[in-house]
Amino acid sequence: MPTSSAPQAVLFDRDSTLVVDVPYNGDPDLVRPMPGAVEAVAAVRAAGVPTGVVSNQSGIARGLITREQVDAVNARVDEVFGAFDTWQVCPHGPEDGCACRKPAPGMVLQAAAALGVDPARVVVIGDIGADVGAAHAAGAAAVLVPTPITRAEEVAAASVVAPDLATAVRIALAGGAG
Ligand SMILES: [Mg+2]
Ligand SMILES: [Zn+2]
Repeated sequence: MPTSSAPQAVLFDRDSTLVVDVPYNGDPDLVRPMPGAVEAVAAVRAAGVPTGVVSNQSGIARGLITREQVDAVNARVDEVFGAFDTWQVCPHGPEDGCACRKPAPGMVLQAAAALGVDPARVVVIGDIGADVGAAHAAGAAAVLVPTPITRAEEVAAASVVAPDLATAVRIALAGGAG
């Protein structure tokens, strides 16, 4: 049973958080989990907490990949990790002004609605400032797990930073995400 301080859902960024980033990847065979990521997601599920993915995929808007290719890659992610309870994908580009592209809150709100949970009891785990921004814009908590692409000012601005996904999940499940 989840404790009262535990989140009602944990949402993960996909690229550079769950899987090694292959820019605009349309090939399921190139899906490789980040170190420790499969175990970290399993720990969330073992705590009885639903999991989801919130992923910007502007390659669709840019005409570099199709929605079908993204869906095929995401299906492979579900095979590698076990099926996530909800997937939210933004197919738009930065100029489209959509409500879903992180740091906009749309995908976090949609995921919470799909799971039937309160956005304020959701934790988003991701590797860049847009992940943290989307969480906070939705009223959710966030844990930043920096990678070499994460900018120093994004790390400085994040209220909660973890060195790896396992630590991020421990913080999230303990109710310590900001
Ligand atoms: Mg990322
Ligand atoms: Zn969008």
